[in-house]
Formats: sequence, C-alpha cells, structure tokens
Amino acid sequence: MKFADLGLLPELQRAVADAGYTEPTPIQQQAIPIVMHGLDVMGGAQTGTGKTAGFTLPMLHRLARHASTSTSPARHPVRALILAPTRELAMQVHESVQTYGKYLPLRSTCIYGGVDMNPQMQELRRGIEIVVATPGRLLDHVQQKTIQFGQVEILVLDEADRMLDMGFIPDIRRILALLPANRQSLLFSATFSNEIKKLADQMLKNPQLIEVARRNTVSETISHRVHPVSAGLKRNLLAHILRHEPDSQVLVFVDTKLVCSRLAHFLARHEIAADAIHGDKSQQQRTETLDGFKSGRIRVLVATDVAARGLDIDDLPYVINFELPHTAEDYVHRIGRTGRAGRSGNAVSLVCAEERGRLAEIQKLINLEIPQEPIAGFDVEDDFHDGGQRKRRGDKRPRSDKEGGGRGSASRGRTSGRKSPLIAADGFDFSQPYQPMAQDADKLGETDGEIQPPAAVRKHQRPIAFLLGGLGRKPG
Ligand code: AMP
Repeated sequence: MKFADLGLLPELQRAVADAGYTEPTPIQQQAIPIVMHGLDVMGGAQTGTGKTAGFTLPMLHRLARHASTSTSPARHPVRALILAPTRELAMQVHESVQTYGKYLPLRSTCIYGGVDMNPQMQELRRGIEIVVATPGRLLDHVQQKTIQFGQVEILVLDEADRMLDMGFIPDIRRILALLPANRQSLLFSATFSNEIKKLADQMLKNPQLIEVARRNTVSETISHRVHPVSAGLKRNLLAHILRHEPDSQVLVFVDTKLVCSRLAHFLARHEIAADAIHGDKSQQQRTETLDGFKSGRIRVLVATDVAARGLDIDDLPYVINFELPHTAEDYVHRIGRTGRAGRSGNAVSLVCAEERGRLAEIQKLINLEIPQEPIAGFDVEDDFHDGGQRKRRGDKRPRSDKEGGGRGSASRGRTSGRKSPLIAADGFDFSQPYQPMAQDADKLGETDGEIQPPAAVRKHQRPIAFLLGGLGRKPG
C-alpha cells in the first residue's frame, strides 16, 4: 500500500514524501482511514511503530478545512488537543504535527511545565488550532483562562498507560469535563488495565479497536547480548565497550537519577562525550542535552526510563542497559530505541549476579534466551551462576531515587495462561463486543512530574499481551 491510496490531502502527501516515507506502516494503514472518517479509536501501539503519524496525518486532514491565513485570533480557535504524559513526548508529537502539517496554514503549539508560562500565554492568545500539552500545565492555563476548549473537535490521549503511571488520570478527567461532548476522541495505550478501560469508556463513543503488533515482541533486527560482570566493574566495562565502538552513538539506561549523573560524569572524566538526562534536570537542560545528542555532539546519553520516554532518535545503533530494568516490560521500551524501521540495532546488557532474576523475567517476556558473552578482565561475581539468589541488593534500593514506577509484579507471568490470541493477559477479550465499564472512577493520587504511581494502581495494572485483534464496537 502507498500513502496515495489512503486519500490524504495532497499537502499531507507532499509532507510525507519530504519525510522520506514511501509506505504507511501497519498501524498507519489501519488508523488513518478510521480517523479520517471521524470515528473514535482505542488503539495500542508502542513507540517505533509510526503511531504518531497514524493519528497526526488524519487529524490534519480533518482540520484542513479550518486552515486560514487570517491573522485574527478568532479565526484560530483550539480545534485539536493532544495530551501526552511527558514534556519530551509532547515535544516529539508537536514536531510531527509541524513536519506533516508544514504545507497547511494550521497553527500548533506545545505546552508543558517547568518553563515560564508567559510565552505560552502569548502564543495561545494569538490563536492556535492544535495544542499538544502535558496535563498539569494545560490545567494551569485553564485556570488562567488563557485557553478555551469550546471549539475542540478532536482529542488525542497518547500513552494513556504512562498517564496512569504518573498519576495524571484525575487531571485528564478534569480536562475531559471541559471539552465539548460532540468530539472525536482517540486513546492510545500499550496496556489496558481496568483504570484505562474505565477511562476509555468515559472518553470514547463506539470506539474502533485498532489491531497492532503484539505488545511484548521485540524487533527482529535487534541483536541482544548480555555481558555478565560484577557490579563493581560495570563502569569500567561500559567505558571499555564504548572505546571499542568509537563511532557509535549510544543510549545507556540506568535505574536511578543518582547513578545517571554519576555515570555520565565518570564517562566524561574518561574522555567519552557523555551527558545525563533525568527528571531532576530543568527543561532547558533536558532540551539542550537532547539536542546535543541528536546533533552528535554528545555521543553517549545516560538516561532513566522516565526521562527517555518519548525520545525519538533516528538511527540509534546501540542501547546499553547499565542496569536491567526492574520491570521486564521496560526492557522492551528501552531497546525500542534501536533497530527502528527495519534497521539493525544492538541491545547490550551489563548484568551482575543480583540482576539474574530480572534477566530471567525479561527472557521469559520476550521469549528469547539472550546470549551471554563474558569479557576477559571483567569478571562476574562468584554467585552469578547460581542465579544470584543469595543477594538482591539492587531490589532494596531506596525508592525515592527511582524514577517512574515500574510495574513490579504486574509483569510476572503475563505470558502464561493465554486462552486465545484475542484474550489479553489482563483478561480483556478483543473478540467480544466492547463492554462499557462502571463510571465510578477510583481516585488516584494527584501528582506533578515524574513520580511513583500509587501502589494500588501498579498492582492492578497488567500489560496487554496481544493487542486488539480487529474492529469492535461498543453497543448502543
Ligand atoms: P513513532 O512510533 O510515531 O514514534 O514513530 C517512530 C519513527 O518512525 C519516527 O522516527 C518516524 O519518523 C518514523 N516513521 C513514521 N512513519 C513512517 C513511515 N511510514 N515510514 C518510515 N518511517 C516512519
């Protein structure tokens, strides 16, 4: 299938051709016609599938009828609202809106916290059709009366599961209550816990379910390997690997902000151009670091899971797990930064004895035994081969230094007991008509920024093993 077959406006087809895309990805093939028809969508997709263009292109197609070169703010009311959990993801989505909408006179902006509100206010006063925003800052603008939602036609909720993780669902509900009831709504999420289903029921009308790739599969173009190493030698091993790959840009994942900063300093001291990105950095620092990495000035970016969320970096040949994630599902998220769009990629993990349990979880989840390659001079602890059962120091790290939340036990056993390919791990049956849930939403802890989800939420959250096997309709 070609983009031309989808019936998108010529302005959008030109922008897509400029971006170098020849064929729509599977999620784009499914989402674009549905969204163009004005239907609501409940979709599951992970980063790297092309989901952003999947909703942005048809959204722009629908909004093009409002495109106006008039300078009057009244001619540019907010028509579309895209909500994203993190500043980085919001910026990424906004970049896509600009890329695909460059031949249409539609105005867009990106609204997020951690920066001065005034420039955002001025921009909003000018009149903006498409607003990409994180929920907290958007509500600040609502309170300041700098934004009105009376003309909103399209709402997109991106990465709803991360919104839940970050405690944003009460904010989302507040925003929903302010929007016109007669609108098109799209919800994208990688997991479908009861909370997400409740939200979908509140937000969507007769949602079309979009079939996407299985959640926990990893790209076949990625080669995985584990280097067993004792915890104390990891930093030196990382420097050793980086010196042997002098031309590669590398994204290095760690679990905590503290390790993140220290590791970046360590590498910089060893003359490896490295920087850290985590939730304690100011927005300006994060943007500068990301720009530095994208331009190639920074060769090694050390990141926590939350800070790395939504980063879209083309052609990344290496992802290194300095520490394995506590949640197996995050391994899939992390290595999704390499091997994109059919390119080859390397997922390298430095694993010490106390991480053996996490490695087993990951291998179970992705259904792959990852080859282990010891490196001479970087020995592993004596108890590595007995499964590291005797000590689990890593699991006792104080939570206050961790970012995001991880979904802990929710990741366990997700691949077992699958009844049919259309039954998700959480019991959601995609072969059945969509059933509305009760409206009484649980109250979640309200927070702002990168925080732990409430324990009760994490406990009930389940990944979806098999996503959305076709079209479905909610009765009535
Ligand atoms: P996303 O899943 O939206 O984060 O997109 C992942 C990457 O795929 C981005 O770098 C996009 O620029 C790229 N991409 C999106 N659609 C296509 C396409 N049809 N062909 C090739 N690359 C694409």
